[in-house]
Amino acid sequence: MNKVHNFSAGPAILPQSAIDASIEALKNFSGTGLSLIEVSHRSKEYEAVVSEATQLVKDILKLNDDYAVIFLQGGASMQFDMIPYNFLDENETAAYVSTGVWAKRAIKEAGFFGKVNVVASSDDKNFSYIPKDYTVPSDSKYFHCTSNNTIYGTEMFSFPDVKVPLICDMSSDIFSRPFDASKFDLIYAGAQKNMGPAGTTLVIIKKSFLETKKAKRKIPTMLDYTPHIENGSMYNTPSVFAIFVCMHTLRWIKEIGLEKMEMLNKTKAELLYNEIDRNTLFTGTVAKEDRSRMNINFVLNNKDYEEEFLKLCKQKNLSGLKGHRSVGGLRASLYNALPIDSVQVLVSTMKEFEASKLI
Ligand SMILES: *Cc1c(COP(=O)(O)O)cnc(C)c1O
Repeated sequence: MNKVHNFSAGPAILPQSAIDASIEALKNFSGTGLSLIEVSHRSKEYEAVVSEATQLVKDILKLNDDYAVIFLQGGASMQFDMIPYNFLDENETAAYVSTGVWAKRAIKEAGFFGKVNVVASSDDKNFSYIPKDYTVPSDSKYFHCTSNNTIYGTEMFSFPDVKVPLICDMSSDIFSRPFDASKFDLIYAGAQKNMGPAGTTLVIIKKSFLETKKAKRKIPTMLDYTPHIENGSMYNTPSVFAIFVCMHTLRWIKEIGLEKMEMLNKTKAELLYNEIDRNTLFTGTVAKEDRSRMNINFVLNNKDYEEEFLKLCKQKNLSGLKGHRSVGGLRASLYNALPIDSVQVLVSTMKEFEASKLI
């Protein structure tokens, strides 16, 4: 079978080494003679997987012991609830910036627990930019932002200097570039964009934040961060398979390093943005300074060509380029594991399509 170039926004492309290790482990996990999906999560072989995955996150992000790293279930969407449940009392206010569908969902959920102050929004221009001039009141319980807006293709390349705890949804750009993790009190990321398969969510919490800012309400055990931290992601059965794949992806990320990963991601994104800007048939939909390196949104100037272009992409084994159902157009996701050749094939297909229309 010909190689398929996977531009899916998530679940998304993973490094071949993680896929190969998973296939092997499904047959015989760590020499146990058992499949990865039929072993006890309390076995010493599997406990080693969770502890290595946890340590790799700490190593890659240079986190010290002030931080706890856990793998939870329920997706990034569960964090929209767990964060305010754990940190926002009814009479308190949290600040949020509204930069797209996921940010709006986080805002909606926070409203079930306390007061929400939307300090800025890019809703006025269909979320095609990152708001920059805003202030976060110093009495906010925390400030929540979304570093990469997967659906609209905008990315925050710098974070505001806020005087309150900083929380970020990094689901779709974590491990794509270096950043100063010590500025954050809580970071979360659903695995299925840049880290692993669906089924687990990485949560990184500064322990002092958890100890001093916790809400006063009673929190059901499964929705409380503390028991998950105290039990090293093993309060209940974790997502055994998903964490295993994350561990292998994290090994691959650590070996490359975030500096080099950023360089590779920049090169890939520039290649595609340059073609979008040069090609007479296509236009990018996002403010240039806020263009995401992970999710690249663009449209055909003549919408009638869209179906034909997608058909040509299919012929060229280019997959996953249709824009999110809520925005339409085209979207190419260039996550860490996507090789540059895939971007080159997409670019040459865009050139070929342009040539066919100029005749
Ligand atoms: C995909 C995504 C989510 C939702 O993740 P689930 O794991 O499906 O809940 C949240 N935030 C961002 C930025 C995303 O890209």
